[in-house]
Amino acid sequence: MKSGIDEVAGWIIDAKRTVVFTGAGLSTESGIPDFRSPGGVWDRYNPEDFYFQKFISSEVSRQKYWQMATEMYGPMRQAQPNPAHLAIAEMERLGKLDCVITQNIDGLHFKAGNSPDKVIELHGTAMHVSCLNCQKRYNRDEIQMRIKEGVNIPTCDDCGGPLKPATISFGQSMPERETQEAYHRSSLCDLFIVIGSSLVVHPAASMPLVAKQNGAKLVIINRDPTPCDDMADRVIHGQAGPTMNAILKRLKRGLGINP
Ligand code: NAD
Repeated sequence: MKSGIDEVAGWIIDAKRTVVFTGAGLSTESGIPDFRSPGGVWDRYNPEDFYFQKFISSEVSRQKYWQMATEMYGPMRQAQPNPAHLAIAEMERLGKLDCVITQNIDGLHFKAGNSPDKVIELHGTAMHVSCLNCQKRYNRDEIQMRIKEGVNIPTCDDCGGPLKPATISFGQSMPERETQEAYHRSSLCDLFIVIGSSLVVHPAASMPLVAKQNGAKLVIINRDPTPCDDMADRVIHGQAGPTMNAILKRLKRGLGINP
C-alpha cells in the first residue's frame, strides 16, 4: 500500500492546479509560535486585546496593542524559512504550484523564494504598517524604530491618523481582492493541500470546503486533528517540515529530477 507521502506526491504530479493553503503551524518550526497550541500566543495574551474595535476605540488599547505587536514582531522579523516553506517554493520552480493562500503574516513564503504573484496573503502582513485613516503604507521597520526611540502610539506623518500593522485583526474586514481571489483559486483547483492550520478561523477555513465541493482532492497536513479531517482524501498528522521535505523528494523523483 502506498504511504501518504507517495500518494500526495503522485497527486501533485497529476494535478493541473495545486493550491497550498498555509497557517501558523507552517512557521512554528521557524520559531514563530502559533495561536492555539500550548505555549502559543493565546497562552500569553488575551485574544480580546487584539480586537479591531478596541484598537480604534481607545488610546490605552492602541498602546497595549503596539506593546504586544512589538514583542511579537522581533522573532518574526528574524525568522528564516524552514524546509516546509522551501518545499513550497520549490513546487513553484517545478511548475507544480497554482498559488499559496496563506493566513500567515510573517512573510516567510517570500523569504523562501515564492514570487509575489503566487502568494495570497489573506490576513495581511506584519511587514508593513498602514494608516487607518488615509491608508498610507509604511515599512514596519521604520515604525518599530520610532517605537524604539520612545513613541508609544505611532501616527501617520500625512494625516495624523492611527497606524496599525497591515494585518487583519479580529473584527476587521477581510481584504476584498485577496478574499475573492482565494475563493476563486480554491474553486478552480484540482488539488488543495492544507499545511499547519487548525481550520477554525473563518472565512479562511471554508476554502478547503469550497475546493472539495468543486471536485478537488483535499489533503490536510497538520500536527493535530482538524474539523475538516473527515472530508479529506488524505490526512497526514505530522510535522510540516519533515513531511513536506519527504513529499518534495518523491515529487522530484517522480518528475525524473535528481534530488
Ligand atoms: P492556529 O494556531 O489556529 O493552528 C495552528 C495549527 O498548526 C494547529 O492545529 C497545530 O496542530 C498545527 N501545528 C503547529 N505546529 C505544527 C508543525 N510544526 N507542523 C504541522 N502542524 C503544526 O493557526 P491558523 O489555523 O493559522 O489560524 C490562526 C491565525 O493565526 C491566522 O489568522 C494567522 O493570521 C495567525 N497567526 C499567524 C502567525 C504567522 O504568521 N506565523 C503566527 C501566529 C498566528
